[in-house]
Amino acid sequence: MKRNILIVVIVLLIVSLGLAFFFFKHGDMTEVSINDKFKEIGYSKKEVSVILDNVLKKDYDIILELGYDESLTDILTTDGYDAKNFEKYIEYYMKNKDANISDIVTIMNSGFYLASYPASNLLASLTLEKYYINDYVARYLDYGNSHDMNAKDIISIVNSKADLEFYSESYDSNLDVNNLVLVNKFYHLKEDYTPSDLVSLSGQYNRGANNKMRKEAADALMKMIDVARLENIILYNMSAFRSYDYQVNLYNRYIKRDGKEAADKYSARPGYSEHQTGLCADLNEISDKFDGTDEANWLRDNAYKYGFILRFPKGKEHITGYKYEPWHFRYVGLEAAKIIYEDNITLEEYYAYYIEKNSD
Ligand SMILES: [Zn+2]
Repeated sequence: MKRNILIVVIVLLIVSLGLAFFFFKHGDMTEVSINDKFKEIGYSKKEVSVILDNVLKKDYDIILELGYDESLTDILTTDGYDAKNFEKYIEYYMKNKDANISDIVTIMNSGFYLASYPASNLLASLTLEKYYINDYVARYLDYGNSHDMNAKDIISIVNSKADLEFYSESYDSNLDVNNLVLVNKFYHLKEDYTPSDLVSLSGQYNRGANNKMRKEAADALMKMIDVARLENIILYNMSAFRSYDYQVNLYNRYIKRDGKEAADKYSARPGYSEHQTGLCADLNEISDKFDGTDEANWLRDNAYKYGFILRFPKGKEHITGYKYEPWHFRYVGLEAAKIIYEDNITLEEYYAYYIEKNSD
């Protein structure tokens, strides 16, 4: 009798081990039944295999709750689809059923909180841009929806505040960022600001009355002038640091001559001139005739190697608020100059992305 019981126990043990081994090899119980559940809500065999291949187990319930949706497998097979973001795609898709699936995937992949914005190709393109700043997304969309323009240009304009009217908002320039201080038609210096480390440029380095510059910028300028000279490019300062009072006189003289609107295009209002920073210099010839000369070309291509940027480039007038000035070079330091040169951006764009964005 005891032996019979033992045999039954052994047989049961063998059968259960065999069953356990079978399910271990052929997937567990839940997967066997999930297959049927997906089929039950309407997915074909082929669709079920796409689901099983692309969705994490923990997200199966989301599909069951959703019920049959013919776009589900489109989402799962879209370029850039990432199983980690599955829940986000579905939530966003439910609110944007008419949107392009690829835009939905791109927008959710960006990692920015954008669920409350309608999905669109413009929004997707914006998030793919290097200089995209999420805080500005509403302004990008506003501007983009009223201007026929690509995402990159929209971002340039909004990051620079150039979607606003020049001088319509006014902020104190942040002097704590030292060589990167931004002075333009939105950021201004105080009346009494004079840099404490001005030095004079003289001899071969200078031919102008306003010959002072901050020490680090002056050293960099002289080094650049020395190197250029070895290549038979003769450079010299014409106008560097200018005080607030100097700018008052200059600006008033221009208004008298050409009127305020015209004067604003080429001259800065007092406090809004970069020349008050002591970090920039007008070189050689303050005239449109300087454009295209060997000196202007050399500066355009090489100044960044010494920490200088062409501050008011051609084609960026709508961003800087100034017409092209091939003679005006601004010291920003080597690191920033390289990025600004290589990415073909302005100081405004650099400042928005690399300084302002990271300061809050
Ligand atoms: Zn200048």
